[in-house]
Amino acid sequence: MTASEIRELLKWLTTDVISFGGGMPDPSTFPVEDIAKITAYVLETYPHAALQYSPTDGVPELRRELAKFVDTYAGIKAKPENVFITVGSQEALEIIGRLFIDPGDVVITENPTYIAALQSWRVYQPRLVGIPMDSQGMIVEKLEEAVKRLKAEGARIKYVYTIPTAQNPSGLTMSQDRRKHLLEVAERYDLLIVEDDPYSYFLFEPIQVTPLKALDRSDRVIYLSTASKIFAPGFRLGWVIANEELVSWFNLAKQALNINTTTFVQYIFMEGLRRNVVLNNLPRVRELYRKKRDAMLAALETHMPPGVSWTKPSGGMFIWATVPPHIDTRELLKVAITKYRVAFVPGHGFSVDQSLRNAMRLNFTYPTFEQIEEGIRRLSMAIKGA
Ligand code: PMP
Repeated sequence: MTASEIRELLKWLTTDVISFGGGMPDPSTFPVEDIAKITAYVLETYPHAALQYSPTDGVPELRRELAKFVDTYAGIKAKPENVFITVGSQEALEIIGRLFIDPGDVVITENPTYIAALQSWRVYQPRLVGIPMDSQGMIVEKLEEAVKRLKAEGARIKYVYTIPTAQNPSGLTMSQDRRKHLLEVAERYDLLIVEDDPYSYFLFEPIQVTPLKALDRSDRVIYLSTASKIFAPGFRLGWVIANEELVSWFNLAKQALNINTTTFVQYIFMEGLRRNVVLNNLPRVRELYRKKRDAMLAALETHMPPGVSWTKPSGGMFIWATVPPHIDTRELLKVAITKYRVAFVPGHGFSVDQSLRNAMRLNFTYPTFEQIEEGIRRLSMAIKGA
C-alpha cells in the first residue's frame, strides 16, 4: 500500500493555503434543507428499518428507485436486481480489484486516470497498461493494438477501466463514435469494461453522449456512479449496475468488508430521489461549475508563462495542466505550499507508471471565484520561479 498523495497533502492545508487539490464539491451545492426535512421524515416513517442492518446488496426500495433513476437520467435499462449499493464508488473500485485481480493480471486504463482507482488496485499487484487519450477520449485504436499485443503474449486481461465522461483528471469526454468503437473492440476480444461515471451530471457543453452501459448489448459493462457529487460526499453512497451474476460476486465480497452500506443514509437518499432533489438541483450546480471552469481557464490564460498548457474540460471538476519538462511537480508542490500558499495534486500518481512528472491536476469546484483567480496567480509565480 502507498499513501494517497491527496490525503497526505491535506495535512499541510491551513486556512491561508488555496487548495486546488481534492475533488470536493462546492459546499453551497449541498441540499441542506431538503436533507433536514427528509431525515426527520425517515425517522418518523421508517425508524426501525432505517436504523437496522440491511441486505448487503442494498435497501430494496433504494435499488428500485435507482433502477428508475438510471433509466430516466441516462437511458440505462436495469432491474432492481442489477443494482448494487456501495460505500461510494470507491468501495466498488476496491471490490472490483478484490474480485478480479491476481498478481500479474492486466488491467487497462486511460492514461492518466483516477489516482485512487490505481491506488486501490495496486495492492493486488496487477500489470497496469495505460492507453493515451486525445480530445475525443481514450484512443480506441491504441487500445486494440495493446490488446492484440497482450493477447499474443498470453497475458490475462481482466478489464478495461474508463471514465468516459468528463474524465478525472483530464475533464475530457469520449465521443459517441469512440464509445461505439470501444464496445466493438470489447466484443471482438471479449473484454469486460468498468465504466466509472461520477461526472456526467456536469457536462458543460452540448455533447450528445450516452453511458457505455446504455449501449451495452452483451452485459460486459460494469457501471459505477455515486451520490458524492450530486447530493453529499459525506453520505458515502454509490451504486453499481451490472448483471446478476456479478452482483452476487459483489455481494460475496462486501459481506466481509462491511455487511451493508449505512442503512440510514440509503433511506435518506431514496427519499431524495423520490422527491427529485437531485434532478431539480442539477441545473443550478452545473451552471455554477461551468462558471468556475471558465474562471479557472481565464485565470490560466492571464497568468501562466509560456510552456504551460492545459486541457479545456467539457465537464466535471478538474483541469489537467502540463508544465515544462524540467519541472517535477512533486518538488514544485513543496514550494507552492510553503512559499506561495497554493496546493494541487502532482501528476505522477495518475499515471500507470508514475511517468507524468511534469503535470498536475487542478480542481475548480471547491475554491471560490476569488480563490481561483488568486490561486492561479500564485501558482504561476511558483512555476516561473522553478
Ligand atoms: N471515481 C472517480 C473517477 C472519482 O473521481 C471519484 C471521486 N473523486 C470516485 C470514483 C470515488 O467517489 P466516491 O467514493 O465519493 O463515490
